[in-house]
Amino acid sequence: MDFRHWAHKAADWSADYLDKVRSLPVRAQTKPGSIHAALPTSPPEVSEPMEAIFADLDSLILPGMTHWQHPRFFAYFPANSSPPSVVAEYVTAAMAAQCMLWQTSPAATELEARMIDWLRQMVGLPDSFTGVIQDSATSATFAAVLTAREKVLGFTGNTAGLASQPQLRVYASAQTHSSVDKAVRMSGIGGDNLVKVATSGSPDYAMDVAALEAAIVADKAAGMLPAAVIACLGGTSIGACDNVAGIVDVARRHGLYVHVDAAWAGAAMICPEFRDLMRGVEGADSFVFNPHKWLFTNFDCTAHFVRDPASLTATLGLKPPFLRTLGQGEGAIPGVTDYNEWSVPLGRRFRALKLWFVIRSYGVEALRTKIRQHVAWSQELAAELAADPEFELVTRPVLSLFTFRAVPLVLRGAPSATINAFNEALVKAINDDGRIYVTQTVHEGQFVIRFQVGQTETTRDDVMTAGSVVRELAKKLAAKETAA
Ligand SMILES: *Cc1c(COP(=O)(O)O)cnc(C)c1O
Repeated sequence: MDFRHWAHKAADWSADYLDKVRSLPVRAQTKPGSIHAALPTSPPEVSEPMEAIFADLDSLILPGMTHWQHPRFFAYFPANSSPPSVVAEYVTAAMAAQCMLWQTSPAATELEARMIDWLRQMVGLPDSFTGVIQDSATSATFAAVLTAREKVLGFTGNTAGLASQPQLRVYASAQTHSSVDKAVRMSGIGGDNLVKVATSGSPDYAMDVAALEAAIVADKAAGMLPAAVIACLGGTSIGACDNVAGIVDVARRHGLYVHVDAAWAGAAMICPEFRDLMRGVEGADSFVFNPHKWLFTNFDCTAHFVRDPASLTATLGLKPPFLRTLGQGEGAIPGVTDYNEWSVPLGRRFRALKLWFVIRSYGVEALRTKIRQHVAWSQELAAELAADPEFELVTRPVLSLFTFRAVPLVLRGAPSATINAFNEALVKAINDDGRIYVTQTVHEGQFVIRFQVGQTETTRDDVMTAGSVVRELAKKLAAKETAA
């Protein structure tokens, strides 16, 4: 293969793709199984021309993609990217370095140390935090739960196992992400020992701090060993935000580790006016957010901040003889570390480069402007829907995320199952239509539509168009309902 030729072709393909993505249906409109069925059942024994491979990319793959970089992608959460990030990913792929030790790529390690400190300053964490770039928030939260487990066991869990230890307990509200459940399972603590603490309900859905303390006290009295609290800053379902200061206060009194999961919302902390949401964070032990969600940086790129890196590396660090770097003093020189000791996998991609490209290419103020616009447009649409008699705002906007449902006049007073079914049909109609893409959640028994703004190229017009599409399709559906 002529690398230079096809590398240019890939660059052109990418630029063309981003030029036309706005005209494509946001969610793939494919029949399940059709792409699988169209692919050869066995691999080719002999070389195929790149022309044929690229042709199949266009005819087979592209129509089956859901376009996360579509400006009218309002589903799930953003996983935004940006031109400088894509370019950096491209050269990262060309170098294809393993960045597990300082020695295996000094520049990758030293840039990572700098970038994590740039991010720390950008989101307003004190300089008592340092950190590492992980592959996902799931990995960071897993590392946090393991560290909490080892801390409370005096670092004996890794060696002696958990069988002869008192029963460990972890606390989180029901609004936290399923990655917390997964971390508690994988840590050997066991899912039954993840205590789902009640929330205070509307409008914050924050963990009830008094209930947290009561649960810890009761568990201690029962001979169990409380280890950690996972606070949620911008829960995935409706954006619930815990009272971090209140949680830290309880945890401190009882000797628990506090991890803050701000995977999505953390990026917005680059705007000082939103930092009220994380009040008290300086007392937490670790904090995670994903630049690969809302900070214009390709997946994967998770910023994992810790106050005491020694407890993290004592938990995850292993140094077999073949990984030893000869003649290098441990931790003495700034930026010189072996980051594999900070994470679950040994192998590590060079993830800092894309952050460096993004932050330098935009400058922090332009990144703040984008996030402020997303928040403002989302809140503008939320207010518009709240004022419409055929819609209800179910949960208020948290940054750029809110939930709503349609309550057409013809269904006034209908049983809640009927209204739920109507909204389920509405989500399906919206996504089959293809102009916008939204997803749903169930909140207090109601089927609700989630709406978040966060794609890099989204404009105010895109957000307002989403409002008209939703109203138009809800009307159509309600007319069917009347005819039925
Ligand atoms: C997206 C999300 C996660 C999971 O992030 P990954 O990086 O995909 O593991 C965890 N917690 C919250 C609050 C999220 O929004």
